[in-house]
Amino acid sequence: MEEAASLLHRFGDVASFYAGGTELLLVMKMGLTDLSHLVDLKRIDGLRSVSVSNGTLRIGGAATHREIESNPLVMEYAPAMVSVASRIANARVRAVGTLGGNLAFADPASDPATLLTALGACVEVRGTGDSRRTLPLEDLWVGAYQTALDHDELIEAVTIPVLKPGTSVAHERMKFQERPAITVTVSVTAVNGSIVDARVVVGAVAPVPRRLARAEYALVGLVAETTEAGVDLAGDAAADGVQLLDDSDEAGPYNRQLTRILVARTARQAIESALLV
Ligand SMILES: Cc1cc2nc3c(=O)[nH]c(=O)nc-3n(C[C@H](O)[C@H](O)[C@H](O)COP(=O)(O)OP(=O)(O)OC[C@H]3O[C@@H](n4cnc5c(N)ncnc54)[C@H](O)[C@@H]3O)c2cc1C
Repeated sequence: MEEAASLLHRFGDVASFYAGGTELLLVMKMGLTDLSHLVDLKRIDGLRSVSVSNGTLRIGGAATHREIESNPLVMEYAPAMVSVASRIANARVRAVGTLGGNLAFADPASDPATLLTALGACVEVRGTGDSRRTLPLEDLWVGAYQTALDHDELIEAVTIPVLKPGTSVAHERMKFQERPAITVTVSVTAVNGSIVDARVVVGAVAPVPRRLARAEYALVGLVAETTEAGVDLAGDAAADGVQLLDDSDEAGPYNRQLTRILVARTARQAIESALLV
């Protein structure tokens, strides 16, 4: 990892990390880069491993979507991640595309980005020498296709706190072409039949996935009888609060309506499952 980072440092802007190549090679074929050096991360020891310790699941940055969807530890400690990874793209992309590549490319149409933001995940970042830092996912992206990573920093791993008891997570998206047009994750925690904590994250319609505080507020305190009205309120709050990538007269109202419907639907699913447990 240190060698990979130092190669990026040495060759500067004409070098890039390379993992599955599912984004990078498309960009190169479109002639949007003038890269002369690719630094392959896939064979670096430990960069694809999955482990659990101290209540945290840790997934290596070069783990592929396929490896994630079939890993028993991920199945046990973050089942939502398995279901999301298994629905990404198609079998060919999942076989080579990596979690680190997905997050580092910062395409707004990312399923794991939205899910992992709701799960309170962090990225462990490695640079040259002994430079290391940990960033909450919310601080990784500064805009569409833009991250807070330095040129020579790589995502070593993603860490996901294991869910609190009584917590259910639902992730939904709608896609009309290859990539999702909207991604929504809702995570709720129920205690004695009532929702005591909620996280609502919307992505793809927005430049970066973000939590929507007013939508979360609408879900806290719900019980079975008030769920239907509460999820509609959360949908309205999300539609009002989301910062859209395209807020033009043509697309804005449509994207807000998409947000309203999908947040209500995903929240209903998460709450019903949390109240059943
Ligand atoms: C047809 C198609 C459909 C898709 N559908 C979906 C979908 O439904 N949902 C979804 O979420 N995604 C979707 N994707 C995106 C897919 O998940 C990503 O293409 C994939 O995960 C990127 O990983 P990669 O290893 O191929 O990245 P690469 O192409 O190798 O790299 C992408 C970028 O990340 C950098 N990079 C790679 N690894 C690291 C690292 N560890 N640290 C720092 N920088 C790194 C590279 O330098 C490059 O800039 C789709 C992609 C395609 C082609």
